[in-house]
Amino acid sequence: MTLRAHYDVVIAGGGVMGSAIAYFLGANPDFDGSVLVVERDPSYADCATTRSWGGIRQQFSTPENVRMSLFAVEFIRSAAEALAVEGEAPDLTFREQGYLFLASTAGQAVLEGNVALQHSLGAEVLLLDPDALASRFPWLNTAGIAAGAFGARNEGWIDPSALLHAFRRKARALGATYVHDEVTGIDTVRGRVAGVRLGAGGTLGCGALVNAAGPQAGALAALAGLDLPVRPRKRTTFVFDCREPLPPLPLTIDPSGVAVRPEGGQYIAIVSPPGDRDPDSADLEPDHGLFEEIVWPALAERVPAFGAIKVTGAWAGHYDYNTFDQNAVLGPHPVLGNVLFCNGFSGHGIQQSPAAGRALAELIVYGRYVTLDLSTLSFERIPAGLAIREVNVV
Ligand SMILES: Cc1cc2nc3c(=O)[nH]c(=O)nc-3n(C[C@H](O)[C@H](O)[C@H](O)COP(=O)(O)OP(=O)(O)OC[C@H]3O[C@@H](n4cnc5c(N)ncnc54)[C@H](O)[C@@H]3O)c2cc1C
Repeated sequence: MTLRAHYDVVIAGGGVMGSAIAYFLGANPDFDGSVLVVERDPSYADCATTRSWGGIRQQFSTPENVRMSLFAVEFIRSAAEALAVEGEAPDLTFREQGYLFLASTAGQAVLEGNVALQHSLGAEVLLLDPDALASRFPWLNTAGIAAGAFGARNEGWIDPSALLHAFRRKARALGATYVHDEVTGIDTVRGRVAGVRLGAGGTLGCGALVNAAGPQAGALAALAGLDLPVRPRKRTTFVFDCREPLPPLPLTIDPSGVAVRPEGGQYIAIVSPPGDRDPDSADLEPDHGLFEEIVWPALAERVPAFGAIKVTGAWAGHYDYNTFDQNAVLGPHPVLGNVLFCNGFSGHGIQQSPAAGRALAELIVYGRYVTLDLSTLSFERIPAGLAIREVNVV
């Protein structure tokens, strides 16, 4: 492929974020610039997107995160039309089976506060006491549970690969160029990025550089001498069969942090490792020890039918983990102003990709947020020490 010498926008990383940004730029009638997406692995075998659970929920604890996910549902419902190419509509397979957050007495006040915030922003979430939980979810052991929050509408999960490929396909149809290469260097001149160097050789000029490198975002930022606290952190998903047939489960989060949901005819479960066992990770070898130590005891306690299960597989993926406050970092760097971040989603990037993609496109085209003000997620909060605390990180 012959590339131009200069692109108005170069996006480093063509996962769900890079492709969402490329789509929202192409779909914006006020944008007529050139867009190049540099993706080092177009098979997407190891990226965060394809190893994700694809969960969509409004049950967050900050207004920005609730609003971003409300837009995600709106976008997913319109995606068949918005992302169709030559009459072929993508199928994101939205399974609207809900999220069920469970709290012990210790977590009850936080859960109730979160639900009040979610209601104030228009999210439909039910607050259930143990009796209501037991009658709605007879497979659940409510011992030790003080309350649950269930999103019966607008919550569930999609196929994350389908969303990535739908964004990518539509972005290309709207004029974006994708190249199979790696950004290996970033050239700066007088406080601006002038261009990027590619692994295959050569340098491309750019008007703006977007960091959409997912778990590698910190490494990419370092090429420009920038310190972005986003690191690859391993999360292992366990796949299992359950002998006893159960009704359709929501994505259920136990107070221990263990999460479980159906996947086809099987189930998948996950837990974030304890902080002292969560180093930056370069490999994708599943951490099998977590299953016996943490996951299975919690599953068997919470869902008695899961006392007899058979593990059939496991896979690991990297969270694009923001070690500062586990929230997205969006928008320009305060000094190197034509570097824009779209990073650090820490386990909720699939559902935030439509809002983040739209937001980055607005910053590029208009220099400001137009639809949803996400300025609290700016890079500036990091050197200023202004952490945004999201308590519902799964
Ligand atoms: C196990 C797991 C479960 C998850 N569950 C959920 C969930 O239920 N709901 C949810 O919303 N989110 C979830 N997430 C998080 C979500 O998957 C991520 O936040 C999201 O996929 C990040 O998208 P991305 O495009 O930024 O990163 P990626 O998908 O990793 O894409 C980044 C791309 O950049 C490329 N790249 C990196 N460096 C370079 C370079 N120098 N040059 C060129 N290309 C480069 C990579 O090859 C990669 O393809 C989960 C993640 C994991 C791992």
